Amino acid sequence: MLSREILKELGNLSFQPYLVTTLYLNVSPLKNPKGEYKIIWKDMKKNLLDSLNLEGDVKKSVLSDLEYIENIVDQVSFGSANTIIIMSCSAQNWTYQIPLYPTLKNKLVIDKDPYTRPLSHLMIANKPYYLVILSKGNARVFKYFLGEIKEEGEIKEEIPKRHKQGGWEAADWQRWHETHVIWHFKEVAEFLDKKVQGEEKIVLGTTSPKNTAEFLEVLPKRLHERIIGEIPIELDSPIKEILEKTHDLIENYEENKMRELIDQLIVLSAKGKEATIGLENVAHAVHQKRVRMVLVDDQFEQPGFQCPSCSFISPYLENCPYCNIKMEKRADIVDELLEEAIIEKSELLFIKNKELSEKIENIGAFLRF
Ligand SMILES: [Zn+2]
Repeated sequence: MLSREILKELGNLSFQPYLVTTLYLNVSPLKNPKGEYKIIWKDMKKNLLDSLNLEGDVKKSVLSDLEYIENIVDQVSFGSANTIIIMSCSAQNWTYQIPLYPTLKNKLVIDKDPYTRPLSHLMIANKPYYLVILSKGNARVFKYFLGEIKEEGEIKEEIPKRHKQGGWEAADWQRWHETHVIWHFKEVAEFLDKKVQGEEKIVLGTTSPKNTAEFLEVLPKRLHERIIGEIPIELDSPIKEILEKTHDLIENYEENKMRELIDQLIVLSAKGKEATIGLENVAHAVHQKRVRMVLVDDQFEQPGFQCPSCSFISPYLENCPYCNIKMEKRADIVDELLEEAIIEKSELLFIKNKELSEKIENIGAFLRF
């Protein structure tokens, strides 16, 4: 599961004077039923070799990286991953692989460091969810992030079984038993209260409406508004089923949320006030530090120019309108723009549904004022 720790580790690596080759390749079985990504990789490699301006051992290391990556792309099967990220610095015998569920843009980058910008954008644009499966005597808590799920904890409460002992009536036993169930749910709620400290959301998995109702009674108020829905699931359901049901609910929730945001964006931008649509408008708004939230198609890329002084980007302007100096060519100005927006504390959300992103020309932004 992708984490800030992994990004930090990659960010701390240095192989100087050698370079690191990083590949992001969309290997989605849906988009590549016949392994089309192998051809896409060959094109990327050819373009890179055509413009490669290196010498000596540094060049040798990069060429050997490309060979290593090609072997993996040609021979490995990536299962259910939609994106495979391969990093390599052959001269230092270092390689790293990350299979991911989200679909990222294809990229082949040679740089001093591992190219992690798309990963950090992904971390910023997505928040984890917690799934709590409740049952009378037991609960399991899972963390869901970027299409993957892992168990965070199992909370067991020893609920006493009814047995023959002096003096207790059936009703006493019933009350005793129910008190234990409440204690147990309180323990689960406390566990969740500690876990959910940021913007995480909660999915409830339950076996009975009674369990849900009793759990909600002891769950802190602040966590109630984090619950996005409920799935019917058993405590011991296979992990594949748990992941599928959680994933479907979350995808649905996120798409509905995105649909609402895009409708809002269109209305506000038509009024010409607190929102703007399209790459050029968003670029000006980012430059003016006015962007509060960017919505962008997860596959949107565009070659263009960037100002070396103020970082303004444009798909066609060769001179910066703000600094009046010559801009530099960039293979993809969209990622540069997102980076600038994030530096200015903008939120970021990726649009996965093409029909939605077309409504706002692939990119739009809510403005601060
Ligand atoms: Zn400039």
